[in-house]
Amino acid sequence: MKTKLLIYSVGVAFSIINATWAQSPSPSVNAGPVTVFSNVRIFDGKSGKLSAPSNVLVRGNVIEKISDKPIPTDRRADTVLIDGGGRTLMPGLIDMHWHAMLVRPTPDSALTDDVGYTNLVAGAEATDTLMRGFTTIRDLGGPVFGLKRAIDEGIVPGPRIFPCGAMITTTGGHGDFRELYMMPRKSGDPRSRVEQLGAAMIADSPDEVRLRVREQLTLGASQIKLMAGGGVASPHSPIDVATFTEPELRAAVEAAENWGTYVTVHAYTPETIQRSIAAGVKCIEHGHLMDEASAKLMAEKKIWLSTQPFPAEMADVFPPGSTQREKFQEVLKGMDKMFRFAKKYSIKTAVGTDVLFSPALAKRQGQLLTILTRWYTPAEVLAMATSANAELLALSGKRSPYPGKLGRIEEGALADLLLVDGDPIANIKLLADPGKTLWSS
Ligand SMILES: [Zn+2]
Repeated sequence: MKTKLLIYSVGVAFSIINATWAQSPSPSVNAGPVTVFSNVRIFDGKSGKLSAPSNVLVRGNVIEKISDKPIPTDRRADTVLIDGGGRTLMPGLIDMHWHAMLVRPTPDSALTDDVGYTNLVAGAEATDTLMRGFTTIRDLGGPVFGLKRAIDEGIVPGPRIFPCGAMITTTGGHGDFRELYMMPRKSGDPRSRVEQLGAAMIADSPDEVRLRVREQLTLGASQIKLMAGGGVASPHSPIDVATFTEPELRAAVEAAENWGTYVTVHAYTPETIQRSIAAGVKCIEHGHLMDEASAKLMAEKKIWLSTQPFPAEMADVFPPGSTQREKFQEVLKGMDKMFRFAKKYSIKTAVGTDVLFSPALAKRQGQLLTILTRWYTPAEVLAMATSANAELLALSGKRSPYPGKLGRIEEGALADLLLVDGDPIANIKLLADPGKTLWSS
């Protein structure tokens, strides 16, 4: 059976993107080699159906022209002509909740391995992420700035990264991975390992929050992530707990907004969702335990829900009988209700996978998105994973590391493109098995 999924984009586009960025950060003055796709049907990132057979000209890393007529080109030596053969051209996928540094290690190895080794492992995973068709990820916590730089400089193939840097949490909050014997911490004590790595930072007052937020912005964060409530993977963080106070959350929002960007929070429960919104937070990560009142509030205030269709097998990441596993089951139980609220109230919804500590699940990154067809049509899922996610990315404003439009196929947009052998709207499973079906040039 012929279900070959062809990825163009970054295989070619990477060299193009990086060469042109060095000279011209503004896409409007983009120059560079030309690529012409002929005879492709376009999923533009929004529309519910494919276009008629079309031709697309990419100059440098920008889509310059789309036409149903042949596009004349000068046959320079560096012009690439790609006969699409009726395949589907679509925007690269975007994963809105990814942890590039924490996909492959175990929690223990993430804390204890040599940092050089950890980065090389993350680089290899970033290349695989890209080759699964994910051309952009929003990194929701981890010391990712070095990896991002290496990708942007063309040293390692990988997706564009919108980094949060360290997740900011409280003592005892999600992401505080200290052992119990390390408490109490007195002022002047050395930072804990997770803080030394830059994976999480602990802050217990509005002043400390401001300091930590400004540090991440200085390091290059495109948005800020706070842990507003308890989490699954942490050892000492019950899921029902609200961590930051409203003044602490507000301090973070103020500092981020002074830099022209926004705060997103890890929040499962109604209380953490509502408190975060009151403090000015623009996006809720997860939200699986939301109630109807918080759903309505999110819709009314146009707050983004950045959520994940967790597969039941994700429980296997945690040891049998562990509290982490129990907490995951609780989250999973809320998932159906959350997606029904999101639809009922038309909450602005972005999607990601939040794969942590599991190379096996990472290989299923595309397939995890297809779980969403329990609640959404395939066209809606594809639109979420491209144009809707890109709309949320744009909240980073001038802190976006990549000026230009993502997640759309239209003239002037950045050319992160996938060429798919088949129609992903008719058969979304085409995205599920990239290991066998992807080809890149
Ligand atoms: Zn996460």
